[in-house]
Amino acid sequence: MSQHNIQRGRLAEKTALITGAASGIGKATAILLAHEGAKVAVADIDKDGAQNTVGEIVSLGGTAVAYALDVTSEQEWQRVIDDLLEKWGRLDILVNNAGISFAKPLVEMSLAEWRKVFAVNLDGVFLGTKHGTNAMRKGGGGSIINVASASGIKAGAGASAYCASKAAVRMFSKVAALECAQNGDNIRVNTVSPGGVMTQMWESMGFWQDMKAQTGSAEANWQAMSQDVPLKRFAKPEEIAAAILYLASDESAYVTAAELVIDGGYTA
Ligand code: NAD
Repeated sequence: MSQHNIQRGRLAEKTALITGAASGIGKATAILLAHEGAKVAVADIDKDGAQNTVGEIVSLGGTAVAYALDVTSEQEWQRVIDDLLEKWGRLDILVNNAGISFAKPLVEMSLAEWRKVFAVNLDGVFLGTKHGTNAMRKGGGGSIINVASASGIKAGAGASAYCASKAAVRMFSKVAALECAQNGDNIRVNTVSPGGVMTQMWESMGFWQDMKAQTGSAEANWQAMSQDVPLKRFAKPEEIAAAILYLASDESAYVTAAELVIDGGYTA
């Protein structure tokens, strides 16, 4: 991407904060938003990974900064947002993307495991939306995009905590959108619900590793799992980032409390 492209991009003059941007969907989103001219704060619990994403953006001619952020910590959210406002003066776009998956039958799940999934997937989205809204109010508005999941729409056995946490993100985001609208904040809040996406998130799950021992590769697993997807494949992270870009840009100025399902037809 050339400097010329960045200056004329769909997000020129805007600043963005993306959580979980060391990897997968968050990383692809950070690169795409930077390509469209936004200054991007790349936040992740994995600081080295966040730094790598920043390195890629800078080498492509974009502007980015890395933050170590555990989205479950309100103190860390405050620190990051305060620092960002001091550095760039405003926050226009927030993508609450950080999330973890977890698969275990509910009768075997400990309360600590249940709470961990909710802490990252739901508390993290709540804290980000709360502090992001306060920061955006100071700048006259903005766009918040919360990453939910097709698993928050369609149930899957063995994924009770994950499915329930993602369903909660969908409803939480609609309430946040209504409160911002009611307040005349000029802040929009929307969700993106991806179906299966080819990222490293799958690697943490036992059933995935068992399957890989049979099929031989992650690609073969994705292929096998996509047989009940109408488009017969999983998504590339960039295909989810494209939907996030739309919701981040002024092209979606009349879109709030909406749910964009990007799942190859899976939940139809
Ligand atoms: P990923 O594992 O590639 O990336 C997730 C990132 O979040 C990682 O960089 C990780 O370090 C970071 N993270 C984890 N816990 C964190 C915390 N407490 N604080 C800050 N960062 C933290 O996964 P992905 O597939 O890119 O997932 C991104 C989002 O998309 C998640 O919310 C996930 O639930 C959702 N999603 C993924 C899929 C899929 O099939 N991959 C499908 C639907 C929804």
